Amino acid sequence: MPPKFYPPEPYRIKVTEPIRLISPEQRESALKEAGYNLFSMKAEDIFIDLLTDSGTGAMSAEQWAAMMRGDESYAGARSFYRLKAAVEDVFGFKYFVPTHQGRAAENILAACLVKPGNYIPSNMHFDTTDANIRARGGRPTNLVIDAAFDINDPHPFKGNMDIAKLRAFIERIGVDKIPFGMITVTNNAGGGQPVSMENLKAVAAVYREYKLPFFIDSARYAENAYFIKLREKGYENKSVIEIAREMYALADGMTMSAKKDAIVNIGGLLCLNDEALFQNIKNELILREGFPTYGGLAGRDLDAMAVGLYEGLDEDYLASRLSQTAYLAARLNDAGIPTIQPAGGHAVYLDAASVLPNIPQGEFPGQALCVELYREGGIRGVEIGSVMFAYPDPDSGVMIYPKLELLRLAIPRRTYTQSHMDYVADCAARIKSRADKVRGYKFTYAPELLRHFTARFEPL
Ligand SMILES: *Cc1c(COP(=O)(O)O)cnc(C)c1O
Repeated sequence: MPPKFYPPEPYRIKVTEPIRLISPEQRESALKEAGYNLFSMKAEDIFIDLLTDSGTGAMSAEQWAAMMRGDESYAGARSFYRLKAAVEDVFGFKYFVPTHQGRAAENILAACLVKPGNYIPSNMHFDTTDANIRARGGRPTNLVIDAAFDINDPHPFKGNMDIAKLRAFIERIGVDKIPFGMITVTNNAGGGQPVSMENLKAVAAVYREYKLPFFIDSARYAENAYFIKLREKGYENKSVIEIAREMYALADGMTMSAKKDAIVNIGGLLCLNDEALFQNIKNELILREGFPTYGGLAGRDLDAMAVGLYEGLDEDYLASRLSQTAYLAARLNDAGIPTIQPAGGHAVYLDAASVLPNIPQGEFPGQALCVELYREGGIRGVEIGSVMFAYPDPDSGVMIYPKLELLRLAIPRRTYTQSHMDYVADCAARIKSRADKVRGYKFTYAPELLRHFTARFEPL
């Protein structure tokens, strides 16, 4: 890939946090102790932590200042009203509750709407959404366009829903079994790929035609809006916040992890327009999370979120963020390591099946690459492949494997520099040169749902 211009970060470093690379022997014993699952590792044994971009970003001086203004009143705190003003300004829904994170919003929505045997369509559900629907006896259904599964397809909006598939699905299942429809922006499980405004409009029209409420899983609303500005005709001169408002005017509600584009360490949102459903949601929230004006968070967390919702939309910030990811992808590609094209917003997804062609899906090539990257350089990524998504079919019991075996390197916001990215690319290149010696893994323990978090492995 030819060198291109990567805009520098529009901020400088005010506070630092030391990181260190432990010795190869220490890394080996840390791996063994963790059952070769990097979720089970001590964070202090990680040098560069690309496990997730969730809650790992650096807050700004303005956010820290806002935290000092946090109002810890149990009910009706000023912090809540500041957050309310920001949520209404950016997303425009009539009602909302804060939640402690995205999956809490998903849990409450699923508790209120999903019955056993129901189906929930989306482009692709992320793991927590998928599990929250399954936990209520529902079946999450992924209807993303086929281009999403071709890692080399340069389609600018690979997160798009396949409208023909969506229509056929609704006709086949019947609206009675579909309590609501979703879409994820950007599509995390499919490579952090954006959804176009045109597609959002088409999805909204189909859901409206069948009278299905439309919820947007909105963890990366700002990155998606910026991709629309960069790539979709007619949006080049609109501001990112205008684009976000246009996106959300199409929907009936949203779930959101604020730990992503709102750049806070904890927080989430559940927004909607339906008043009766809002009553049920509030009751469920009080039972599980807290009073509706704090939703399981401290007042100071609400204030940090209110500021972060706008900082996430800052266009200089978004330009440098998206190019940091593109830079890492370009360096990896130069070293002969294929990644999902084009680079996603928040992460680079390495094609583990192609880096480790000798390891079959049942032996977890993504997990193997994940372990090697730690072994090589103390870097932590996460497998997005069969460990996370292979499930036995509920009807036949036959194992269904996902189409891709990926290693995701998620980039925390405003946290690492370009030299960290260079180091990661150099380590990956060294693994590539000894790929034929890397072996697969088998489970020694695996829970039924969300097993990647707590599974243990043994090398084969
Ligand atoms: C992170 C994420 C969630 C879940 O949010 P948490 O805050 O981790 O509970 C849901 N959907 C998407 C697309 C996400 O990226």
